[in-house]
Amino acid sequence: MTGRRPHILILEDSESDYVLAMRELALGGLNPEISWVKDRSAFLQALESSDPDVALLDHSLPGFDGISALKMLQEMRPDVPAIIVSGAIGEELAIETMKAGASDYVLKQRIERLVPVTLRALQETEQLLARRRAEEALLESRKRYEALFSSSSEGICVHELMRDESGRAVNYRPLNVNPALEQMIGMRKEMMVGALASDIYGSPIHLERFARVMETGESASFEDTRLRPGKTFLVSAFPIEPGNFATLVVDITYRKELEMQLEQRAEELARSNDELQQFAYVASHDLQEPLRMVFSYLALLEKRCGDDLDDRAKECIYYAKEGAIRARDLVQDLLEYSRVGSRTKPSEMADMERLLGLACRNLRELIREEGAVIDHDPLPRLPADEAQITALLQNLVSNAIKFHGPGRPEVRVSCCEEGGDWIFEVRDNGIGIRMEDQERIFLLFQRLHTREEYEGTGIGLAIAKKIVERHGGRIWVDSRPGEGSSFYFTLPNGCSR
Ligand code: ADP
Repeated sequence: MTGRRPHILILEDSESDYVLAMRELALGGLNPEISWVKDRSAFLQALESSDPDVALLDHSLPGFDGISALKMLQEMRPDVPAIIVSGAIGEELAIETMKAGASDYVLKQRIERLVPVTLRALQETEQLLARRRAEEALLESRKRYEALFSSSSEGICVHELMRDESGRAVNYRPLNVNPALEQMIGMRKEMMVGALASDIYGSPIHLERFARVMETGESASFEDTRLRPGKTFLVSAFPIEPGNFATLVVDITYRKELEMQLEQRAEELARSNDELQQFAYVASHDLQEPLRMVFSYLALLEKRCGDDLDDRAKECIYYAKEGAIRARDLVQDLLEYSRVGSRTKPSEMADMERLLGLACRNLRELIREEGAVIDHDPLPRLPADEAQITALLQNLVSNAIKFHGPGRPEVRVSCCEEGGDWIFEVRDNGIGIRMEDQERIFLLFQRLHTREEYEGTGIGLAIAKKIVERHGGRIWVDSRPGEGSSFYFTLPNGCSR
C-alpha cells in the first residue's frame, strides 16, 4: 500500500454522514480513492469488481446492516478489514461486531476517531500482506530446496553435530539424506537418519574436519575413501544452522581411476623415453669408435696397397668409404638428437640475432658455395638454451639453402609476437613441399628425396621439433611446391609467463 493512495469502500446510505466521513478523512491528511455505495446490491457489486484496502460499514441501513455487510465482506474479501460506523452503538452490539470480526468501530458522535482507526486498519492490512508475501516466498524457496534436494545428482546430507558436556565434538548423526546419497553409499535413508555416525561407519569419520567447519564457519572440501569401500568421493562440508552442517558428496571414483591410469602412463612413457634416449645416446656414441676404425683402416688400405689394387677393388673401397661416411653422419645426427635432453627451464636470456649470426657463421661454406642471401628482421631476446636454438636456426637455414630452386637461395628470418609467444618464420624461395608431406618431414629419418638428389640423414627437422617442444613451443611448415617454404616455430616470450 505504501506509495499509493489507499482504496476505501464506504457503505453509507446518508449523504450527510458520507460527507462527514469524507471531511474527516481529508482533515486527517488521508487522500483515499473512494468507492461509495448506499445499499446491499451496490455493496455486492463493489466487492465483486474492486479490491479495497479497508471498508467503512454503516451499521444501520434500510434492509441491511453492518454485521451482514461484514459477513459478506469476509466471504468475498477475507483480507479486507472492516470498520463499523454507527450512530449509536450499545455495549452488546459493540461486542457483537468485534466478535463477528470487525477491526474496530467508530461512533458518528466521535467521528474524530475515524482517521486513527482507519490508519491502523490500513497498517494491519499492509502487515498482513507483507506476512503473506513472506510466507509465499518461504514456501516457494522451500519447494525449490526440496526439489533440489531430492533431484540433485550430488549426494546431500544434513547432519547434527553432537557434543559432550564439555562442548567437545564426539559424534554426529544424519538428519536428512537425499536419494543420490543413498545410492552413492549404498545405504537406505531409514538406516541412516537418526543413527550415530559411529554406528553407520564404524567410527565418526571426518569428525575433526566437521567440528572445525562448525567452529570456523568456513566450508571445507576433501577426498574420502571411507564412506564406501572401493569408492572415492569428494566431500564438501559447510555449516547451515546452529549445531547442524551439510555435506555435498560427489562420486569421483572414475575420475580418480583415470587420473591414476594417466599418471601411470605418463610415468611409463617418461621411463621408456628415458631408456630410448639413453639407448640412442649409447648406441650412437659407441658406434663412433668402430666407425672411425673402419674409416681409418680403409684409408690405410688405400694408402698401403693403392698401387697393387685393380679398378674393381678400388671401386669397392670407394663404396665402403661412402657407406662409412653415411653411417658417421647418421650416428652424429642421432647423437645430436638424443642430446636434446628432457626439457629444462631455460634460464639464460638468448639474443636471437646473435644466435642467427652464429648459425650463419657455422654455415658460411654452404652460404658461399650456393651464393645464398640471408636476411632478417630485428629479432628479440628471450629465455632459451643458446646452443639448442643455434642448432635449430642452423638446421632450418641450411635446409632453406640446400633445397633451393633454380634461382639464388634467399632466406629471410622474421618474427612477431602473439599472445605471450614469439612466432618466428624462416622463409625461403626453394623447391617447396607438397601439402601431404608437410607433417611427416618432422619425423625421424623422413626424407622426400634420394641422397643422390640432396645430401642428408632425415634427422634435422626431428631435432628442430624436439628443441622447439623442449622450449614449450610448436613448429610447422607452410609451403607449396615451386613457391618456397615458410618454416614457423613459436617460443614463449618469458616476460608474460
Ligand atoms: P635432411 O635435410 O637431412 O634430409 P630434415 O629432417 O632436415 O632432413 O628434412 C626432412 C625433409 O624435409 C628433407 O629431406 C626435405 O625433403 C624436406 N625439407 C626440409 N626443409 C625443406 C625446405 N626448406 N624446402 C623443401 N624441403 C625441405
